Amino acid sequence: MAPPSVIAIDGPAAAGKSALAERLARALGYVFFDSGALYRAVTWAAHQHGVDPRDEAGLANLARRLDIRIEPSDGSGRHAYRVLVDGRDVTASLFQPEIDARVSVVSAHPRLRQVLLPLQRQIAARGGVVMAGRDIGTVVLPDAPLKLFVRAGAATRAGRRYEQLRRRGVDADLATVLAEMERRDRLDSGRAVAPLAIAPDAVVIDSDQLSLDEELALALRLVRQRDP
Ligand code: C5P
Repeated sequence: MAPPSVIAIDGPAAAGKSALAERLARALGYVFFDSGALYRAVTWAAHQHGVDPRDEAGLANLARRLDIRIEPSDGSGRHAYRVLVDGRDVTASLFQPEIDARVSVVSAHPRLRQVLLPLQRQIAARGGVVMAGRDIGTVVLPDAPLKLFVRAGAATRAGRRYEQLRRRGVDADLATVLAEMERRDRLDSGRAVAPLAIAPDAVVIDSDQLSLDEELALALRLVRQRDP
C-alpha cells in the first residue's frame, strides 16, 4: 500500500490546521493547499470589484472569471504559500480583519462553493497534497484515505489568532478577536451547505492538549499506519 496521496485536515478557525498541514506537507514532501485562502481570495476580489458579500450570483460569476493561484512561497514571507489573483500577489491582504469579517458570509453561498469545488478536486487529483479547510473530509474529498479534524478551545484559538494579528502589526484586542472568531465559527458550522463538521472517519486531534511536535508525530504515525 502507498502512503495516502491526499490528507484532509479540517477544523474551526485558528485551531492550528495550517501549522500542522504545513509541517506535515514538509515532512512528506507534499504540497500544502489551504482552501481557506481560496475563499479569502474571492472575498478580497469581491471587495475590490464592489460585489456585495450577500450577492450569491455576483460572487459566483466573479469567482468563475478570476484566475486564483496558490503557489508555494519562496520562504521569505509569513506564509508557506502566496496567493495570486489575476497575477497580483494579494497574500498579505487576505488575513486582515476586514476579510475575516466578510469571508464566512461569502463562503456560505452554495453557488460559489460549486464554482470552487472542481478547482480543489483538480489540485487533490495531482496527489501529494495536504489540504486544509472546513469541508475537505466531508464534501471536497470524501474518499480521502486520511482525514484529520483539529480542534481547540475557544480561548486557546482566540489567543493564537490575537498573537498572529499582533505579529503582523494589526491593532487588535483579545475580546474582539474572540467574539469575531466565535461569530465566524457559528456561521461556518450553521450554514446549510458544507458546514464545518467532523467526518465520521476523521481522527480528531485536540490541539490544546498537544504541542505542534506531538501533533506532527501523531499525524505521521497515522500516515504510516495507512502505509504499512
Ligand atoms: O481557514 P480560514 O480561517 O482561513 O478560512 C476562512 C474562511 O473560509 C472560513 O471561516 C470559512 O468561512 C471559509 N472556508 C470554507 N470552506 C473551507 C475553507 C474555508 O467555507 N474549506
